[in-house]
Amino acid sequence: MRNEGPAPREAVRAMKEYHPPLGGREGLRLDFNENTFACSPRVTATLAAITAGDLTRYPERGPVEALVAEHLQLKPEQVLLTNGVDEAIHVLCQTYLDEGSELLLPVPTYSMYEVYASATGATVIPVQAERADFAFPYDRVVAAITPRTRVIALANPNSPTGTAVHREQILTIARRAPQAIVLADEAYFHFFGESVIDCVGTAEYPNLVVARTFSKAYGLAGLRLGLLAAAPQIMHWLRRVISPYSVNALALACLPPALQDTAYLDWYVGEVKAARTELYAVCEELHVRTWPSDANFVLLEIGAKHREFTRGMHERGVLVRDRSADPGCDGCVRVTVGTREQMYRSHETLRSVLAEL
Ligand SMILES: *Cc1c(COP(=O)(O)O)cnc(C)c1O
Repeated sequence: MRNEGPAPREAVRAMKEYHPPLGGREGLRLDFNENTFACSPRVTATLAAITAGDLTRYPERGPVEALVAEHLQLKPEQVLLTNGVDEAIHVLCQTYLDEGSELLLPVPTYSMYEVYASATGATVIPVQAERADFAFPYDRVVAAITPRTRVIALANPNSPTGTAVHREQILTIARRAPQAIVLADEAYFHFFGESVIDCVGTAEYPNLVVARTFSKAYGLAGLRLGLLAAAPQIMHWLRRVISPYSVNALALACLPPALQDTAYLDWYVGEVKAARTELYAVCEELHVRTWPSDANFVLLEIGAKHREFTRGMHERGVLVRDRSADPGCDGCVRVTVGTREQMYRSHETLRSVLAEL
């Protein structure tokens, strides 16, 4: 028999796995909700000016955290930069979850909450949203809060549905579950515009944590850059757990120019919102059901032939994401929205693939 080596912890053996995409993802990438166009040209100019000296030093988060805090009107001790929001979720789970504790999770939602929570041995308590509108199942989430609830993860707007949680609902949940971290994951904030970040660090919300990423609207998914905003007491524990140099020097150098170029960000967000409206219209014309989205993607109901559809789109150079395996999403495919011009191309592909199904 093959020597298997030492066994990992039981929770790791039972862990939910994440499968990253295989292959080059060549084509129009409407599958991962990235910015489909480019980051700000100020960022690429900054990268071009990086010197050897910038690379030989260990990267210091502190000064850039202070700058981001100012941008968000927070105190420096309320901001933690992370290697993408994925690392932020990982660190939150490592800090607050263990066996016997519960992660409360409205589903369907972003998959990494369950991946990282399951590795700690915590129990994931899913709360299913109704397919009719995929609205946030507020009453049932509140009813599912127990003394063991230690983290409540709310993607706002949610993925893959695009639906948002009302601000008052997030805040009420935070007040009803003072024993738990309430994470408002605002990865798609710029396409939505509402936030609870102004409540972070206030006396009433010591358990509220907000996440933001530079992977989506800002177009920096490859740099791996995200942040958490929370009360200093929470940051104290997270800073113990996080790897001290997980945000690399290139990401830190690029963050200030990315933040400063608000005109670029506004342009991109405007493109996506206009293209989103046009995509709804095309879907309606083609009798494809959609759900109203507050993010840079739309969930389409394709039906039994979701695999053939996803493959057909791919063969014609448009990558989309089959979400049929997500809870309550049978037959659904998620399409990222890019610029208007990019989307016109994808409309033609959509028409011909649907015609051939
Ligand atoms: C994309 C996404 C993330 C991951 O962001 P990174 O900063 O790239 O790790 C986190 N949360 C949600 C809801 C997302 O859709």
